Amino acid sequence: MKTICALSTPAGTSAIAMIRVSGNDSFSIVGKLFSPSKLGHKEIQPRCTYFGDIIDTQHQVIDKVIVTFYCAPHSYTGEDTVEISCHGSMYIVQKITELLVENGCFFADAGAFTQRAFLNGKIDLIQAEAIMDVINSHSEASHKLAMEQMRGGFSKEIEQLRGALINFSSLIELELDFSEEDVEFADRTQLTVLLQQVLSRIQELKSSFTLGNVLKNGIPIAIIGKPNVGKSTLLNVLLNEDRAIVSPLPGTTRDTIEETINIDGMTFRFIDTAGLRYSNETLENMGIERTYEAINRAMAVIYVFDITVTIATEVEKMLNDFRTHIEDPDKKFIVVANKIDEISEMPSHFNTLVNLDTIFISAKRKENIALITDSLSKHFKEKTQNVSAVTSNLRHFEALSKSQQALETVQTGLTEKLPSDLVAIDLRQALYHLGSITGQVTNQDILENIFGRFCIGK
Ligand code: GDP
Repeated sequence: MKTICALSTPAGTSAIAMIRVSGNDSFSIVGKLFSPSKLGHKEIQPRCTYFGDIIDTQHQVIDKVIVTFYCAPHSYTGEDTVEISCHGSMYIVQKITELLVENGCFFADAGAFTQRAFLNGKIDLIQAEAIMDVINSHSEASHKLAMEQMRGGFSKEIEQLRGALINFSSLIELELDFSEEDVEFADRTQLTVLLQQVLSRIQELKSSFTLGNVLKNGIPIAIIGKPNVGKSTLLNVLLNEDRAIVSPLPGTTRDTIEETINIDGMTFRFIDTAGLRYSNETLENMGIERTYEAINRAMAVIYVFDITVTIATEVEKMLNDFRTHIEDPDKKFIVVANKIDEISEMPSHFNTLVNLDTIFISAKRKENIALITDSLSKHFKEKTQNVSAVTSNLRHFEALSKSQQALETVQTGLTEKLPSDLVAIDLRQALYHLGSITGQVTNQDILENIFGRFCIGK
């Protein structure tokens, strides 16, 4: 493996920048430009930092730096690694990397350090991908999820499933060696039971994808309701800024709005409801198709109505309509009565609205908005509490699906008493797909696809 180098901190002016070098020659290459160096491999104390100068070929001091040496295999990549912390000037960074390259380093590709960590067995593919998710995490929930995967929680799950199947697979493969003799080493009844267990766990992991994906990318919410009830105003208040256009004329919000807010460590993403507005809308025909589309895409729906002009039976009818059309019965519905600042006395239908768990707000005066955010936060905190391993990566989800398909074919094969060689093929397929998740089986295309998405220097 070539010795590689790259800037690991963001490019630009900063207090400090860090250049990483990894590979067999990293100590000797850095030793050539670092003084007081004369630090041969033997003199270097692992995990010690050394203060000194980076000196160019004309014996000019480029910068005063701190250098940390990590001896293989006790480094991020598993190779001898050096980290040079210099001042964050792009000139200094460029000079140092040039000197490293002149002395035998190669510029690292995106994700090259993490790829080496994977190839050297420091981490598996799930953990490598989780490192990227940790870097990109923007909320407590997405961070927690990525950390759990980085620590190997999800890898362990996959390995357990794979381990159980490998045992049976090897017995069936053994039968193939004795095919002439018609023997059965693998107990078909036990295998059937195991298949059921593995399949149900795979299904659970697959089901957790919706949750994992939204925790990572934001929980989608739709704000729906008739024109002019105050949806844009509410969105503005929730976002705490004036992005959406608020106008007294119905149907003026035409631009796409997709914003996120962070509530109690979770990211919520408002799906575009601008497209839901039509002129000449009536309650019965408020762009019904699009409303349902938005509702079905959302995990939580905020249904807003104007309390000054809406009666409870109308709200009840709307909610019933929604319920009959919605695919997911667990979807969180929040009923919001807006414009309470305009009413001077309790409406006669107040009790009916209370029974519908209505939240009474004034978006204009920013009153009771916290009741909406609390309700969202409470609901999703409860949802995430009891879930153990969560799938949040599309690649993993697809591999789980393929593995599931192969195992279902094994199941059919067993029921139909197909010969061992056919069962073995499908079992191998299932193992292949499970193994591809952790990277036990992989190929160059998969690796390039994964690590190509990393930053340079990671
Ligand atoms: P949308 O069509 O549902 O997005 O409604 P808008 O947010 O554009 O609001 C329509 C009108 O209602 C605007 O004139 C807002 O100022 C007004 N409005 C919104 N919320 C309130 C409120 O809480 N109280 C009062 N009095 N007016 C409001």
